[in-house]
Amino acid sequence: MSSSSTSILIIYTGGTIGMKENPETGALAPFNFNQILDEVPELRKFGFNLDTISFNPLVDSSDITPEFWVRLADLIHENYQKYNGFVVLHGTDTMSYSASALSFMLENLSKPVVFTGSQLPIGKLRTDGKENLISAIEIAAATSNGQPLVPEVTIFFENQLFRGNRTTKYNAEHFNAFRSDNYPVLAQAGISINYNFAYIYYPTHRYELVVHKHFNTSVAILTLFPGITPAAVDSVLSTPGVKAVILHTFGSGNGPSSSWFVNRIKEAVNSGILVFNVSQCKAGGVDMDKYDNGLLLKKAGVVSGIDITLEAAVVKLMFILGQDMEFNDLQAKVQESISGEISC
Ligand code: ASP
Repeated sequence: MSSSSTSILIIYTGGTIGMKENPETGALAPFNFNQILDEVPELRKFGFNLDTISFNPLVDSSDITPEFWVRLADLIHENYQKYNGFVVLHGTDTMSYSASALSFMLENLSKPVVFTGSQLPIGKLRTDGKENLISAIEIAAATSNGQPLVPEVTIFFENQLFRGNRTTKYNAEHFNAFRSDNYPVLAQAGISINYNFAYIYYPTHRYELVVHKHFNTSVAILTLFPGITPAAVDSVLSTPGVKAVILHTFGSGNGPSSSWFVNRIKEAVNSGILVFNVSQCKAGGVDMDKYDNGLLLKKAGVVSGIDITLEAAVVKLMFILGQDMEFNDLQAKVQESISGEISC
């Protein structure tokens, strides 16, 4: 249940959803979200107070950087007391990274922050944007006994609600563009929205919202492939200033057993680079005890990413490096769950 006193803030950052066809030229241009009730009159039926803020400039999400995440978190922080929930309209390309970032930054979050976007602009006849927006608002406003039903950073897309830091954009064509292979959907939208309460995180205490704003981007990814050369490996491991490397491994966290490879990884760890093992498989995860090849990496000092997505791993490393910790603490911290991004 939610009431007419419910207030939702819609933050439009850019991306396909906010485009509308200019009737004179036929070209797509950003839509003025201040007139959202005129453009999507269905929203009036909610009876909520809907306010909008648009980023200036609007960004294609491929241009997003940690500075953008800080601006977004600040906006939520400044408006936290005024609104019951937040809907973030964002390009789909990097939505999983931004949702992961916000999930780490907003400590003690107790209100919904729902990301959504669309594959077709909201001004197109067959758009998926309207339904995504309408359902995202409904979820951001949903309460039971005055408490929000989903007080997490989530992504709503097509007909599913996901924990944001568990998602991957996997389809550039279909309306159901996102997946969360290692964590169940939090809600399924059909005739009604069915919530999967057992998998939604509910804080047990109320603490004040704390916003963490430091990121260190000295991160690189080493994606393995059969036949990878020492030069290719070195080019990543010797990236100037690199502090953490995601080793994007095969299957359950395996890599080549050749001594040149294992020795290079060992040298990197000994020189203070955090090497984080993330599987190229989208479902399942890393278990370095399963095969000899994985065990060699574990013995070389590689840390398991368990079942984390590549997107959440990149952002988590930047976030943890931003906290200026000792190497051993970094290694331990990276394997702990900050906001449900990893099963441990
Ligand atoms: N390139 C666009 C973006 O991510 C695609 C989209 O919005 O879906 O901003």
